[in-house]
Amino acid sequence: MDLDELVFHPWVVQGPRTVPTFVGGSGSHVIDADGRRYLDFSSQLVFTSLGHQHPRIVAAIKEQADRLCTLAPGHASDVRGEAARLIVDVAPEGLGHVLFTTGGSEAIEHAVRIARLHTGRPKVLAAYRSYHGSTTTSIHLTGDPRRWASDTGAAGVVHFFGPFLYRSAFDSSSPEEECERALAHLEQVILLEGPSTIAALILEPVTGSSGVIVPPAGYLRGVRDLCTRHGIVFIADEILVGFGRTGAWFAVDHGEVAPDLLVFAKGVNSGYVPLGGVLVGDPIFETFTHRAYPAGLTYSGHPLACASAVGAIGAMHDEGIVAAAARLGTDILGPGLTKLVDNHPCIGDVRGIGGLWTVELVRDRQTKEPLVPVGATGEANAPMAAFTKACLSRDLLPLVLGHRIHVAPPLTVDDSDAATGLAILDEALTEADEFVA
Ligand code: PLP
Repeated sequence: MDLDELVFHPWVVQGPRTVPTFVGGSGSHVIDADGRRYLDFSSQLVFTSLGHQHPRIVAAIKEQADRLCTLAPGHASDVRGEAARLIVDVAPEGLGHVLFTTGGSEAIEHAVRIARLHTGRPKVLAAYRSYHGSTTTSIHLTGDPRRWASDTGAAGVVHFFGPFLYRSAFDSSSPEEECERALAHLEQVILLEGPSTIAALILEPVTGSSGVIVPPAGYLRGVRDLCTRHGIVFIADEILVGFGRTGAWFAVDHGEVAPDLLVFAKGVNSGYVPLGGVLVGDPIFETFTHRAYPAGLTYSGHPLACASAVGAIGAMHDEGIVAAAARLGTDILGPGLTKLVDNHPCIGDVRGIGGLWTVELVRDRQTKEPLVPVGATGEANAPMAAFTKACLSRDLLPLVLGHRIHVAPPLTVDDSDAATGLAILDEALTEADEFVA
């Protein structure tokens, strides 16, 4: 019996699958049950920033397991405190405290709850083309089609358009124009919804799985100013981009702004043990110094998870991972992916930053019609299935999301593995070219 059939899998049609079974990993590679090594160009779901089996993280978990595996969240814990110290140390100015959760979606739920309690207001603004998680509030905040099946329209969420020049909602022809128009639109939304009804605005400072969208210069500053002017809590969702992925500790650092709450997970410990959290700004923290925070989690600040974060952040400092991520973008992935555009008519756009890139595939460069429609399965998804198969047969694990190929290897990937991965993408994209109109 195939044991995989006993597992209920998130997001996909259930049923027998023909997929490799992974049993091991090392650095940028995962190893299947037949001993075949795949180069991981996905960092799984963009979380193994330090690759697989990083010795320092593994040692930190083992050492903590030998000492104290678990502890209730109300007790003081040395390793939890040390993890908080290391996180606060690299965080933007003024974010001095950490609420630990066991993942990203939970952290979003808490950030929104904190903002509502702090302001006494109900609504939250979120961008179209965003992903904030799949629990009730976080899936409603999500601004892409992953929300549709779960949307009851009842979470107090209002969506707005963020800047996205390739598919501009504002007919812009330059990043400057897109920035100005997106901010004017956002201000209109705030004024028409009523600032006194809006608790928070949540934003991925670089959009991750909904399209790898880097905002134009000035946009994050403009959002920060609008939030400050109207007493709205600015929540940065850095779950995917935080802890170095974009070539800065946090993506908000590129815009030199500090949010009021910052949500993280994934890269904080390369996902070795489930961990997420909310960095809480000082004025909001004060709200709860004379009033109990009315929520919690049994495993908040789990010692094994915190130990893995201590190991991971220590390694990131010592190995210069943030600078390596920036170089990965400017010297390797950026130029390498841009070069593919000339070879492949199916490529509509290449964009990204640091260790996070996307190749957007279209049927027609003029109309920009996506190569496969939203939610495509079976025959409708044939182009992406053919591309994926071509990658796997060449021992590359790609990250395909709808009509886009996201390129996000471990930030520790070496130049020769990165070049191998780019060469395989080049070959596999030929399969997708067959479907261009
Ligand atoms: N927010 C962003 C930007 C994400 O990328 C994700 C997950 O991919 C989440 C929230 C949800 O995190 P989790 O899957 O850990 O619940």
